Amino acid sequence: MTHEVVIIGTGPAGLTAAIYAARASLNPVIYAGMLPGGQLTTTTEVENFPGFEHGIMGPKMMADMTAQAERFGTKVVYETITKVDFSKRPFTLWIDKTEIKAKTVVIATGATAKTLGLPDEAKLMGRGLSTCATCDGFFYRNKVVAVSGGGDSAMEEANYLSKLCSQVYLIHRRSEFRASQIMVDRVKNNPKIKIMTPWTVEKPVADASGLTGIIVKNLETGDSTELKVDGLFMAIGHKPNSDLFLPWVDVDSHGYIKTTVHTATKTPGLFAAGDIADPTFKQAITAAGMGCQAAIQAQKFLEEHEEQ
Ligand code: NAP
Repeated sequence: MTHEVVIIGTGPAGLTAAIYAARASLNPVIYAGMLPGGQLTTTTEVENFPGFEHGIMGPKMMADMTAQAERFGTKVVYETITKVDFSKRPFTLWIDKTEIKAKTVVIATGATAKTLGLPDEAKLMGRGLSTCATCDGFFYRNKVVAVSGGGDSAMEEANYLSKLCSQVYLIHRRSEFRASQIMVDRVKNNPKIKIMTPWTVEKPVADASGLTGIIVKNLETGDSTELKVDGLFMAIGHKPNSDLFLPWVDVDSHGYIKTTVHTATKTPGLFAAGDIADPTFKQAITAAGMGCQAAIQAQKFLEEHEEQ
């Protein structure tokens, strides 16, 4: 069977594409990948998505979007696409050895958290190192933690952790913050958060049970010191998940997929929506808007290529 529309990724972009494609009777199939619901499932309250006057928890928003997509007939598959061949239509995708055929594909695979590349990083992930306060903060109740980064994610994580932990250090390599002023102000006004700039994390200190501290360096004075912390949350941005789709898409120097007109990639019938194709805004609402565009684009493409 060849699907009309296959969507890869269940963040706001993928699920909005699914809602629109399903309502256009295209029977979309959406693959959830390794983080069903996408990055918003690892966040706390979403305050800036229009329509939720008092905010909504990220995981709840994604569960509702999934249910909405399913209500109109979207098939949600909790598997990860492992290989694709977009060299000819219908396109071919694989989940390991299982082959899937699709007339159009919407890539909405978003981005993955970056890490600092510290010594023993992989070994200490889940044993003191984390990239997700919402996922792991629970384990650090009444403990001392540090957050690395100077963007909105770092501010959000620091604020979230301050509600659970006894003390939070926010460590950022510059004295200026990339984060929005409102987020910075919340951190500055939070008595449980101690801001350290311009500092950088040099290496973890650990014993057999996991992280016990971090060596931090002041970039102005060159001084290094050990900070006793039980956890370090790396909140330094994300890498777009585009590797699987090369060479059928063009990417920029950071790996974001380049689109031409309204989510269209260089391969006819292949569309990209959300953070995977958005180096600038990276918001849930812009991702949803792009998902809508991709679905309508796919519908138009199918109408214009009825011979398939
Ligand atoms: P970001 O804005 O790219 O910020 C990444 C931060 O990490 C920067 O401060 C950067 O430092 C620092 N950094 C990067 N690599 C580093 C390294 N190797 N060592 C030390 N520090 C490093 O990423 P983000 O905070 O994840 O935010 C991404 C987007 O999502 C933004 O558009 C943001 O507004 C949005 N967002 C919004 C909300 C919200 O509104 N509630 C919440 C989270 C995210 P430099 O500044 O020195 O480059």
